[in-house]
Amino acid sequence: MPTCDGCGEDVSIAGGIGGFWSSDADASGGMTLELTDGSEHFLCHDCMDRLPDDYEPTAADVADL
Ligand SMILES: [Zn+2]
Repeated sequence: MPTCDGCGEDVSIAGGIGGFWSSDADASGGMTLELTDGSEHFLCHDCMDRLPDDYEPTAADVADL
């Protein structure tokens, strides 16, 4: 189970574990964010929501979550 790079919580990923939420397009608990510097961070939806949406987030923004 991956952990969120923002808050460090375990993030459940849909698919392969019984499909309890498999019909929900928003089923997985997070997503990989690729930053403009090329680094990738896996974030839960809560952290995604906390990132600024008025500019491209940076690694510093992720670190501040
Ligand atoms: Zn998080």
